[in-house]
Amino acid sequence: MMDIKERLGTIKYDVDKEYAHITVDEAICEKCPHHFCVMACPAQCYTLQNGKLMFNYEDCVECGTCSVACDQGSVTWHYPKAGKGVVYKFG
Ligand code: SF4
Repeated sequence: MMDIKERLGTIKYDVDKEYAHITVDEAICEKCPHHFCVMACPAQCYTLQNGKLMFNYEDCVECGTCSVACDQGSVTWHYPKAGKGVVYKFG
């Protein structure tokens, strides 16, 4: 059975460098008491570095979890433009 890192390795990302399909409001994140997004994101797109939230949309698998996990209203989520985003190699 594959672990999560192996499963994520089966996915290819076609990154759109000109359009971030997820944006976060840094002012809201600075005041967030728990940063649920760090624990919730399976692709580890959210990390904390010295208490500051860092976000990297390029590894997103489009699961939508962060849009639900963030109860502070920081996450704005849209699907990537057509032809961009996650590509599943095995269907
Ligand atoms: Fe992570 Fe899923 Fe949000 Fe993408 S949609 S950043 S994979 S939680």
